[in-house]
Amino acid sequence: MAERLSGHTLLVSLIATPIRHSLSPKMHNEAYAKLGLNYAYLAFEVGNKELPGAVQGIRDLGIRGSNVSMPNKQAILPLLDELSPAAELVGAVNTVVNKDGKGHLVGHITDGTGAVRALAEEGVDIKDQIITLSGAGGAGTAIAIQLGLDGAKEVRIFNIKDNCFDNALASVEKLNSRTECKASVHDLADTEAFYKSIAESSIYIDATGVGMKPLEDQKLINDPAVIRPDLVVFDVVYSPAETELLKFAKEHGAKKAINGLGMMLYQGAEAFKLHTGEDMPVEYIKDLLFADDK
Ligand code: NAD
Repeated sequence: MAERLSGHTLLVSLIATPIRHSLSPKMHNEAYAKLGLNYAYLAFEVGNKELPGAVQGIRDLGIRGSNVSMPNKQAILPLLDELSPAAELVGAVNTVVNKDGKGHLVGHITDGTGAVRALAEEGVDIKDQIITLSGAGGAGTAIAIQLGLDGAKEVRIFNIKDNCFDNALASVEKLNSRTECKASVHDLADTEAFYKSIAESSIYIDATGVGMKPLEDQKLINDPAVIRPDLVVFDVVYSPAETELLKFAKEHGAKKAINGLGMMLYQGAEAFKLHTGEDMPVEYIKDLLFADDK
């Protein structure tokens, strides 16, 4: 590391709290080193209170860009100069680019593009497809909007009646008014409607986190008849690598059962590309960070 750092090194930050557990610094720094890029990536504990100062710091110090995580993904919106179409529709930012290092800050969201690319890398094209999606929190909203922007025919969102149900309503309104995609929202408690929707879909995406601790022994599909040989099942969870849903999908012959590892890697790779203009060496990073999960 030390031999790579010089007076010319460009800094990329990660601002969130808590953040010390994040894999992103390792992911980005290892990728810079592998490609011989004169960049460094550092995490900063920043909450909403410190956010305006931190964003001004990005401008004033010429920090090349930043990743942004909770609790700042929405609070940062009014502090930026420009938003990508996806970030504007999602209403959240996870990547900031300081254009030419000159202080004009553009906000992007790469969670949705990461998910769509993860599917594409598995040979799954979302274009013109009917897709059932459970979950309308941070991950679900980014995915729903990106599916619409990238040409899905229909997105049917199922959510429990908690405060995220309103997110689903807002996403559906935006998808229907701003994209060609037909979108609808449904109560996840209506199991019959949920299973019928999956029966009419080629892809089912679970963005709820059910299947991850503390719900690691649960899944939203419990009828084997829902799983078909032409159904792709994608769970955004990557730890555990195989959720109960994915195990069930495999056991009952789904076309594909895909975990969230690819989404995680590709949202990072998309941010890396925005910050450096270079392609992240994804396979190298996957081996380095997740050798045990493959
Ligand atoms: P969130 O809290 O913003 O949203 C959670 C969603 O799940 C909401 O729609 C909520 O209504 C729903 N939900 C919660 N409990 C439920 C239950 N018991 N049954 C049905 N629905 C339920 O969370 P988030 O940030 O969107 O994260 C969701 C999951 O996605 C987490 O497991 C997270 O680790 C994962 N994630 C993965 C990636 C990746 O890159 N692979 C990225 C972001 C998030």
